[in-house]
This record gives sequence, structure tokens and C-alpha cells, in this order.
Amino acid sequence: MFDKIVIANRGEIALRILRACRELGVKTVAVHSTADRDLKHVRLADESVCIGPPPSAQSYLNVPALISAAEVTDSVAIHPGYGFLSENADFAERVEESGFVFIGPKPETIRIMGDKVAAIAAMKKAGVPCVPGSDGPLGDDPDENLRMARQIGYPVIIKAAGGGGGRGMRVVHAEGHLLNAISLTKNEAATAFGNDMVYMEKFLENPRHVEIQVLADTHRNAIHLGERDCSMQRRHQKVIEEAPAPGISEELRQKIGNRCAQACIDIGYRGAGTFEFLYENGEFYFIEMNTRVQVEHPVTEMITGVDIVREQILIASGEKLGYSQDDIKINGHAIECRINAEDPNNFMPSPGTISRAHMPGGPGVRVDSHIYNSYKVPPHYDSMIGKLITHGPTRDIAIARMRTALDETIIEGIKTNIPLHQKLLDDCNFQAGGTNIHYLEKKLGL
Ligand code: ADP
Repeated sequence: MFDKIVIANRGEIALRILRACRELGVKTVAVHSTADRDLKHVRLADESVCIGPPPSAQSYLNVPALISAAEVTDSVAIHPGYGFLSENADFAERVEESGFVFIGPKPETIRIMGDKVAAIAAMKKAGVPCVPGSDGPLGDDPDENLRMARQIGYPVIIKAAGGGGGRGMRVVHAEGHLLNAISLTKNEAATAFGNDMVYMEKFLENPRHVEIQVLADTHRNAIHLGERDCSMQRRHQKVIEEAPAPGISEELRQKIGNRCAQACIDIGYRGAGTFEFLYENGEFYFIEMNTRVQVEHPVTEMITGVDIVREQILIASGEKLGYSQDDIKINGHAIECRINAEDPNNFMPSPGTISRAHMPGGPGVRVDSHIYNSYKVPPHYDSMIGKLITHGPTRDIAIARMRTALDETIIEGIKTNIPLHQKLLDDCNFQAGGTNIHYLEKKLGL
């Protein structure tokens, strides 16, 4: 096992990684910007290194500063968490070239999955179901593009190969708009992602977002940990996640899950990963793979008992997976609410000092958060300040526990989206389960 690792992240996920390291007896180095000296994990880590001023570009995205932090502390490995450099193939490569272990997949895998055209091609080859589409990048022949869209059937969506974060996509409902939409998306993609390659997919009108968690070791073993439903979204940002996904049968779970696990073996995947699908009329359609730990990983941990972050570290250190597929049993239901420092009415960020913080407890309640009394939420980063996770033998009990947990939570001094969560937990369609990705925005009247 590693002697010491650098946690190249901040906030709740940095604390989550620190907790896993403590269990494994691994020493930790916290790296932080000047705005983050008071982060909880910085105080708890064995060592800490300031890597730059508040803007992420000069601190959490500052590759030389991160590599030097690993060097001066004699660390062995770097855990990137999520966001920041976690899916940056060049960073993973630099880490390995500098003689450290990158806790994640091989740089070349990250590179393939970061290019959606290449990712879809790899998945098709591995037998993972994809959205009907253009089978590669669109060429310059307008007649050919028109023919393809007609064959796929409107509406279609034009997507940038290098896109991310819900950007670089355009829906086309009628033939008259197709060619213009292709050239606009190409131009935008060239500016935003430095790559003007675009492709075409059937636009699914009312899908749910259902994703499969996988773990793969370096000895050609891979398993899936079932699915999560993350359909409750606003502007492509997940707000509530749950596992298992309502209405997915055990047979379908095993079918799609085993496909994903087999794909991991086929592509030489290493570590934790997520296959994201749109799910409509009982069918799964692959849209992308995330090559890192996800914000919503706790719901899977709660229903499987597998510690995903611990497994990431063990896999990176060369260990064989400690589980076979048969060991993985789904136990009950889990829900996660992302708590953001933001105005629940207009979603404006609400940084500032938390004058009072009191977190909930009781059976089946988990809190993954770095906040504490008098903690100052800096304005420079993502507004998520923690996650409430509840688990119960049934979905109804997980929901009941979440409602109690939200009522118990006290966060004063800043605004949070807790009132929005309370409204959603009271919503009869959410309670029934299985709402699609447009439901939250429709409910909010957006
Ligand atoms: P990003 O990497 O930017 O998150 P994705 O490919 O994951 O891009 O797509 C983001 C979101 O866009 C999806 O969650 C879904 O809401 C919508 N979307 C993408 N492709 C399609 C499609 N073919 N049909 C319907 N919606 C889509």
C-alpha cells in the first residue's frame, strides 16, 4: 500500500478521500489555495501545502504546483477527486512521467473517453448500446448530412466531440435548420474546445439519466455495482440522485451492468468509472463515460456496502479486486441531496460565513460535508457544500429519512437549496419515482 498520497482537490471530496486514507493507514497531503486554508481536511491531513492564489487556474489546476507538492512531501500517488484535473489526460500523463501513481485510469483511456466520438466508437465495439447516430464525425457534404438526419429521424442533436458540462450541443427539430445548426455547433466547438469535430444523434425526447458504476483492477477483473438514477437535474446539473433506479428489474440491471463490466475488460479500464446512459422505453443508450469518482458515489456505497474510494486506492496500488460480481448484492434504497450554497429561488451562489451549522443524524443518515460552525464558504469555487445521503430498506423509508434529515439540518448565515429539496421530496411525482430529466425544470417553471 502507498505510504503517502496527495489529495489534489478541495471540499467534501477531499475530506472523503482523507477518510478512506485513514482507514487504509495511508498518510495524506492536503493541497490548498490561499482561500482554502481553513478547509476541514487541511486541518486533518498529515501535511499541507499551499499551491497558489484563489483562482482555480492558479491553484487546483496548476499542474507544476501539484507535482512539486508531491515531490517535496515524498508522496507516492495523487488522487484527483472529481472536477478540476480528474479527467485531464495530460495531467495524468505528467503525474506518471514524474514518477507518481495517478489514482485513476491510464492517460490514454482518459483521452479516448474525453473524445465523445472515440468513446462511442469504443463502446459500440464492446457491445454497449448507444444512441442511434452518425457513426463518427460529420463530414462537410451537406447532402450526406441531410440524408443521415432523415434516416435517423427528427429531432436530432448535434454534439461536439470535445464537449462537456452540457455545452456544445444543439437540438434540431426540422430539416430546414439542420445545416445551419451543424455549422453553428462546429464554430462554437472550435472556440470552446479547440476541436470542431461534431457528430449527430437521435434526440431522445423524454429520457431518464441512469448510470452504471464499475470497478476494474489491473488484473483483468471488472464488476458493476448496479445503477443510479440521476434524472433530477437543472441545467444538466444533478440535484438529487438515487440507487437503485426505480423500475429497473434485476434482470435488466445484470444485463446492462455485465455489458459495462465486460467493456471495461475489453478497453483495459482501470479504477472506478461510470457509464452514463439515457434510458427511455426500457432501453439504455450510452452517452458518455466518466473516468473518475462521481459526486453521487455514496448512494451506490450505501446499497452495496462497497467503499468506492477505498477500492480506487487499492486498485491503483496494484491489488486485485476484493469482490466478484456474485458478492455484490443490492440492499435497500439510497437517496442523495446535493446541498449548495445558493439562493433556492434564483440559484445565485450564496458564499459567506456559516454562523451556525448543525447536521442531522439517526438511522440510515450519512453526511458528506466539510462545513462547520464559522466556516467561510469562499466565492471562488463550485457552490456545493455537502451531500445528505439517506438509506433505508425501501425507497419510501429512504425518502422519509431524507425529509427528517432535511428538517433537522441547520445552516445559517448563508442561503442553501434545502428548501428546494424539501419541495422536491414532497412532490408526488418524485415520490412515485421514475420522472425524466426535464421534470425538475418543468416543475420550477423554467
Ligand atoms: P456533457 O459531457 O456535456 O455532460 P452529455 O453527452 O453527457 O454531455 O449530455 C448531457 C445531457 O444532454 C444529457 O444528460 C441529456 O440531458 C442531454 N442529451 C445528450 N444527448 C442527448 C440525446 N441524444 N437525446 C436527448 N438528450 C440528450
